[in-house]
Amino acid sequence: MTEKRPEIGQAIKREVRQRCGFGCIFCGIPVYHYDHISEYSTVKQHSAENITLLCGYHHDLKTRGQIPTEVVRIKNQEPVNKPQGETAPHTLFYYGNSARIVAGGNEILTSDRSVSALKIDGHSLVDFELVEGQLMLNMDFRDKAGEAVLTVRKNELVHSTHLWDYEFVSKTLTIRERRGNIYISITFSPDKQSVILAKGLVSHNGIDVLFDARGLCILNNRTMLSGNSVRGIDTAISVGVSGPNSPPSAVHIDVSRGPYDQQEAISWARKQMSRAKINSNATTPRIDHSMIAPGTKLTWMSIAFMPYPWALDTCRRPR
Ligand SMILES: [Zn+2]
Repeated sequence: MTEKRPEIGQAIKREVRQRCGFGCIFCGIPVYHYDHISEYSTVKQHSAENITLLCGYHHDLKTRGQIPTEVVRIKNQEPVNKPQGETAPHTLFYYGNSARIVAGGNEILTSDRSVSALKIDGHSLVDFELVEGQLMLNMDFRDKAGEAVLTVRKNELVHSTHLWDYEFVSKTLTIRERRGNIYISITFSPDKQSVILAKGLVSHNGIDVLFDARGLCILNNRTMLSGNSVRGIDTAISVGVSGPNSPPSAVHIDVSRGPYDQQEAISWARKQMSRAKINSNATTPRIDHSMIAPGTKLTWMSIAFMPYPWALDTCRRPR
């Protein structure tokens, strides 16, 4: 009778990820298997010391006896990502002329043109860029000190290793600053040319953006956007300062930079989001004015300056 092998516990997996620098100990890519250095059939238990991270290629070599166990043991002591402070690049195979970004329940669609889903002070956090007829993903998420956390440049993903935890499960990368705190959780689906930012709290230049499956909230001035669908525009959501020559955006939100009570703003946002319906297929932009703090300047692209007639369907001034 064969014994059922239990799952490796979450705490053990996290300890292994942290020790291995969140990537394959040989090549550093952040997509990996949990490998028992001495086979499970021999040791019959899961212990963090005996488990390491190997990518598919290096895992296969070890299984075939092409990498001696002793070499894995040595490499396990000095994983390649540790001194680098970041992972090796992992290629996301986005390919095609149309793409979809879902940012906090707001859908941004594009065909044959570059689009940024979210810009803060003119800096794009997530966009698809048209390169020789193909839309490729770019991302630039940083911590409060301005240090890179997650970077995607033309489909090449690299993440830092200085935060508490980075976990890639299937298509979803979840980055946590500490226990119980998600910095960002992103699902990459190159097979559907889509990327979904469903959870997290990120900052740029003092502007804090909360993502949830039901909405995206600019915490500083409590502005929530949910259920919008935008197509055919250079920038979907622009927050903060945008230069005089910046391309048109579906919505621009001006934010004052003074101190504010973030915890209170988060509770407010969670309450609003619990009332919002998840509707990723919405076709009409929606900003619930009861969700916007008084004094917030919110500019829908003026129709007079709207250069794209097809945007008329998806952008309208709020009442
Ligand atoms: Zn590897």
